[in-house]
Amino acid sequence: MNDIYQLRHEYDERYARATRLGTWFPDDAELCQECGASNSSRVRPLVIEWEPGSDVIGDFTWPGLLDDIIVSQGVRESLEGRFSGFEFGPVIMNQDPKSQKSSTAKGREKPRVRLPYKGPALWDLWVTSWCHFDVFASGMVMEKECQTCHRKFFKPPDNEEILIIDPRTWNGTHIFKTYEYPACVFCVEEVKLEIEKNRFTNISLSRHGHIGT
Ligand SMILES: [Zn+2]
Repeated sequence: MNDIYQLRHEYDERYARATRLGTWFPDDAELCQECGASNSSRVRPLVIEWEPGSDVIGDFTWPGLLDDIIVSQGVRESLEGRFSGFEFGPVIMNQDPKSQKSSTAKGREKPRVRLPYKGPALWDLWVTSWCHFDVFASGMVMEKECQTCHRKFFKPPDNEEILIIDPRTWNGTHIFKTYEYPACVFCVEEVKLEIEKNRFTNISLSRHGHIGT
């Protein structure tokens, strides 16, 4: 049985947080009038801004929801060449000059990652592999189907839920996204074990089922 796990934010306050600024294509994409979904999708490079709170960068940083992932050089070295379904892209850092002044009431500056960036290399973990859940076998509940753009919206999985990847749509990759939950990144157990073995920081992995037989 090939178990799958979702890569998730640890919400660990010790680590620096970042916000995704872009880039999107097309940048003038219109939202669906009915469901509000956008036709634009994130393109490379990943552009981020660091948030105040910490200047300690974890092995994983989560600048968007759970779909965009920044990884350290150590993570890159442990995954690259051994696992498939992703590429590494550049991370571009911006900083609004006004937000440079963020400070505490005492006038002491809050820690944050400062630019120009002089820290270790960071990479956009760009997932290239997509597959489908077996909606029926997983018992997934469709919340609605947009009559205008025909997107299907499924109830988000809770932590314990067992979902089954349709094996006909999975091409053997180790890290992948799914059309049903495009904002989630999943991996197979070998990747989970590698992440745990290396004690990479600021990530948690929750089991979400398996690749169907
Ligand atoms: Zn729609």
